[in-house]
Amino acid sequence: MKYYSLNDQHQQKSTVSFREAMIRGLAPDKGLYFPEKIPQLETEFLENLPAYSIEEIAYRVISPFIGKEIDQASLRTIVKETLDFDIPLVSLAKGIHTLELFHGPTMAFKDVGARFMARCLGYFNKDTYDKTVRVLVATSGDTGGAVANGFLGVPGVEVIILYPDGMVSDIQERQLTTLGQNITALKVQGNFDDCQRMVKTAFLDEELQSFNLTSANSINVARWLPQMFYYFLAIRQLQENSNTNPVLFSVPSGNFGNICAGILASKMGLKIDHFVAATNVNDTIPRYLKEGVYQPETTRATIANAMDVSDPSNFVRIEKIYGKQLDLTSENFSSRAYTDDQTRAAMRAVLEEYDYTTDPHGAIGYLGARDTHAADSQLERIFLETAHPVKFKKEVETTLNRKLSIPPQISSLMTLKKDYVVIDNYEQFKSVLMKK
Ligand SMILES: *Cc1c(COP(=O)(O)O)cnc(C)c1O
Repeated sequence: MKYYSLNDQHQQKSTVSFREAMIRGLAPDKGLYFPEKIPQLETEFLENLPAYSIEEIAYRVISPFIGKEIDQASLRTIVKETLDFDIPLVSLAKGIHTLELFHGPTMAFKDVGARFMARCLGYFNKDTYDKTVRVLVATSGDTGGAVANGFLGVPGVEVIILYPDGMVSDIQERQLTTLGQNITALKVQGNFDDCQRMVKTAFLDEELQSFNLTSANSINVARWLPQMFYYFLAIRQLQENSNTNPVLFSVPSGNFGNICAGILASKMGLKIDHFVAATNVNDTIPRYLKEGVYQPETTRATIANAMDVSDPSNFVRIEKIYGKQLDLTSENFSSRAYTDDQTRAAMRAVLEEYDYTTDPHGAIGYLGARDTHAADSQLERIFLETAHPVKFKKEVETTLNRKLSIPPQISSLMTLKKDYVVIDNYEQFKSVLMKK
């Protein structure tokens, strides 16, 4: 598969391989990479997913995007290792389900993309360990931990994580500051968009061209594409129960990478009727659909902090897939925003009605699922639960007035020392980077 930059709509400039798209992260013209064509899967496969193992499904979904660049046996190993934890679809009641994406090592859905990318990078890098690759990643919460964990100890790779001071939870901070080895955490005096801007600047910085920089943000094709697996695995579980009703996915969205992967899966042939991008008050996309003007505002801190993004990078990919005509009447896509108070009320309502504990992100997903096509009783509504509630322990315990027990992945972090460097501006970031 070849990839081109979305800033080069006529594809006049050269296309790049999967490997190059992954290593560059962002195209030289600052555009996001997009596959030259969207592969189509066979109907027999799509309608009989339970007949295939999870590894087989993942392999069939991802291999057309990689072609011969990774040999078949290695790619099968990569997807198997990537998905070595459960992704259960839990039914709360008739027609409402949650897809639990938090059973990985850092208990948030980003584990899948991070683990996949780390293994691909390790594969391509295996003959060139003498030349260090530097992975840069800006995080609004969960990316940092997932990337740190996924890349920990990968030979020839240094990981540099930027996170906004005071805007990630204590557990999230621990997950990215306590690992050591090839992982460096930078605590930025700014918000997530500032972190993201520094990473983008580094890629365009002439002086850093020889530093082998790569990004591990959700714009990276190697993190973006494997997120398609979730949607196939959810539908597989519906099919196991012979459930072939129309399906709506509600995806708690920040940078819009996850939902965009779902949309791509549907364009490969997976039957999904509607996507809802559910956001917190950083509502650039819901406003855009309503008013037709794309106008990011200053990012606001919310209790669903992994979605505190006001200029979602991946939205251009969604527009590439659907065209630029998206608005409130679009058949397959809509977007809704919710305040912290609405989110807390939803957390309480889900507990009361279904005896199920959501984290703030999942609760926003629930609201999107509940409120869209509300009168349609034939619809299977699936909201993605993107993080384990314990990752937002304080907020969840206060809101629900109950204690959460701490799983071993988290309790082992509590005694470790946080290690980070405080960064005020791009120059400081650059000097740390050049020493790694
Ligand atoms: C990253 C994240 C999101 C948002 O995902 P995007 O792909 O950036 O839209 C939602 N919930 C949690 C818990 C996350 O970590």
